[in-house]
Amino acid sequence: MQNRPKICLIYTGGTIGMIKDPETAALKSFDFEHLEEHIPELHRLNVDFVIDAFPQPIDSSEMNPEQWKKLANTIQKHYESVDGFVVLHGSDTMAFTASAMSFMLENLSKPVVFTGSQLPIGTIRTDGKENLITAVEIAAARHADGRPKVPEVSVYFEYSLYRGNRCSKVSANQFEAFRSPNFPELAVAGVEISYRLPDYSVLQKPFTIWEKMESNIALIKLFPGMNWSHYTGLFSLKVKAIVLETYGSGNASGDPTFQKLIADFIDRGGIVVNTTQCLSGSVQQGKYATSGFFQRIKVWSGKDLTTEAALTKLMYLLGKFTDRNEIEKWFQRDLRGEVSVGS
Ligand code: ASP
Repeated sequence: MQNRPKICLIYTGGTIGMIKDPETAALKSFDFEHLEEHIPELHRLNVDFVIDAFPQPIDSSEMNPEQWKKLANTIQKHYESVDGFVVLHGSDTMAFTASAMSFMLENLSKPVVFTGSQLPIGTIRTDGKENLITAVEIAAARHADGRPKVPEVSVYFEYSLYRGNRCSKVSANQFEAFRSPNFPELAVAGVEISYRLPDYSVLQKPFTIWEKMESNIALIKLFPGMNWSHYTGLFSLKVKAIVLETYGSGNASGDPTFQKLIADFIDRGGIVVNTTQCLSGSVQQGKYATSGFFQRIKVWSGKDLTTEAALTKLMYLLGKFTDRNEIEKWFQRDLRGEVSVGS
């Protein structure tokens, strides 16, 4: 009989950890040390807990590379002494944090499951209880030989487990708030949890964290009739990389002002990545004449990366390397299962 799995619960903030103040009816964070009072069901799981809450829980709109660093450090602090992690996080930017963690946690071989909820845990119809309880079960799940079942960064929400750097928040009000259109769910929870897992290679290198994320990057979503003269300041030297959200399979208007801005920016050493506004599918530069320009001036294809993964992958690689060729070499590779090979 194996020992009971030990799971570290990290509370960063968000709706899941809130209760309604009976006097003012406003939502406020409750003291996470008393989590089990709110979810007595946790006692019945065959799991031991270590609880570590951010001293000042935040709405996930306040997440940034400093907070990511704090989270990565918290995971590192407990890494050797626990079997897995459940990170409670607001759903709004959960896909960004999960993507960032997938890069910042290097040589990860334990589960890090993000979850949250649309309704506070103290509400009768809360989705938070099921999300939390199943996330814990997944983080604790092991094969017969003791290896963890899902040793990667994932997001569990409303009966589905997604790869963290493949999902996006798609609904502000449905319980089913996330989707991962370019990559199948890692597990679906029904009467039983049914796993559909990739082959995880055995990592030889020790776990470590990467803390420096470059935030001098920009994101531009294209729309018909865009007046590019309003954007010239963005193409300044301080900005090291720009992610474009283009149409369909990576297409854009042939507006000469836009093309000159992009071409000059790349000439000066800037990086431009082409991702699609579509929820599913991949950028294929050169498929239509309207993306041939990107191909010619060496805009990097974001293939089927989510915007969240494209941004955080760039932040990670720009934080790690200075040589443009080195950054490009790593960007083109699949580092953490974030991009489909051959897409
Ligand atoms: N605004 C909240 C947050 O993202 C919503 C949630 O918790 O789901 O922190």
